Amino acid sequence: MNLNELESRISMGEALLLDGAVGTQLQRLGVPMDNTAWAAAALVTHPSTVLQMHRMYIDQGVDIITTNTYSSARHNLEPLGLGDQVAELNLRAVHLAMEARERFAQKPLAVAGSISSFGLTASGESERALHRHARARTEISESQAIANLQEQARLLEDAGADLLIAECTGSKILRERVYEACNETALPTWLGFRVRWNDADQCIDTGYSSSDTLDECLDQLASCPVPNGIALFHSTIESIDHALPILTKRFQGTVVVYPEADRADYTARTRNEDEPVLVSTDDFVDAAKRWKSMGAHVIGGCCGIDVDYISAVRNAL
Ligand SMILES: [Zn+2]
Repeated sequence: MNLNELESRISMGEALLLDGAVGTQLQRLGVPMDNTAWAAAALVTHPSTVLQMHRMYIDQGVDIITTNTYSSARHNLEPLGLGDQVAELNLRAVHLAMEARERFAQKPLAVAGSISSFGLTASGESERALHRHARARTEISESQAIANLQEQARLLEDAGADLLIAECTGSKILRERVYEACNETALPTWLGFRVRWNDADQCIDTGYSSSDTLDECLDQLASCPVPNGIALFHSTIESIDHALPILTKRFQGTVVVYPEADRADYTARTRNEDEPVLVSTDDFVDAAKRWKSMGAHVIGGCCGIDVDYISAVRNAL
């Protein structure tokens, strides 16, 4: 499916539905999360469950599904001894999404290839910046990181993804690397920002720990190829509420939002059922309606916002 088709529906005033969480939905389906390659290990151990996960979202009528490739770059697979399967597993991830589309979709559906900074740290960042359950690993060189991201972007393109989503929760330098790798392909790209409302300074910060504000990051975009879309992703509902007006004011392309559920167990081997649920499906539906009225074009879910949430919101947009 061509992205033009999605964009023409957006221009007619339609809000499109993106899928919800990939990793934590797999976790909910009983797939253990690996503490190096996170959900990417499921491409080896649980490919049928990955297909089932895509089907669950397709059955809810989503317009776009995301490949399970957020953490399948070479630097995440090599520590597991899977360095010789980087191509195979990334191609498999796209093929599983495309197979789900072919078998189960009742309407046009785009496949978005996810590519991220997962597993990378920029100099000065602690190894534990990776995630709270991460196994320690050797930092790779900048040139190797760039080569790995370019390799993955090309694989996602070759496999047939319709677009790429650059999902970076890290610092500006890592976001630039991921975005540049996407721009080495001919695919349209949505550039993702994790945003954090900074109440003390009344501004929007980006990434997990960066003090670069969203405004500063958007300023820097002026010297880059303009992305087809910008996503506010893996961010709390409150932070997106604050960031969305800034984005819609400054960006003319497709505006995408997909929040996370503010849980601590995303990268744990299994879901912690004792954790309190801080975001209800009603909270998400209310937020989605609000964001649509504020100008968001595509709405979905990130970690913890799984198929139950997408099911609840499908009739509200
Ligand atoms: Zn997430």
